[in-house]
Amino acid sequence: MTEKNPEVTPEAFLADLMTPEYERTGHICWDCDHFKPVQKGSQFPPADTIGWCMKIHWPFYQVITDFNVVKKCFVFEEKKI
Ligand code: SF4
Repeated sequence: MTEKNPEVTPEAFLADLMTPEYERTGHICWDCDHFKPVQKGSQFPPADTIGWCMKIHWPFYQVITDFNVVKKCFVFEEKKI
């Protein structure tokens, strides 16, 4: 049986489990709370996709590609963890 650590938030626990496939690039999205990066070893997304935005075009996902670098965003929110 595992013991619960009350100091670890659900967001911090999830971030610890998930390892991005790609290195950080010039995208502001890497520091945004709405960005979900492609997970290591994933074969699913097209090669140029580094992740998805869960805020723009909600309830659908906006694909973030390596090619189009996002430098400014009107709904950017700093990552909480
Ligand atoms: S809200 Fe803007 S900065 Fe955040 S992930 Fe989406 S596109 Fe990137």
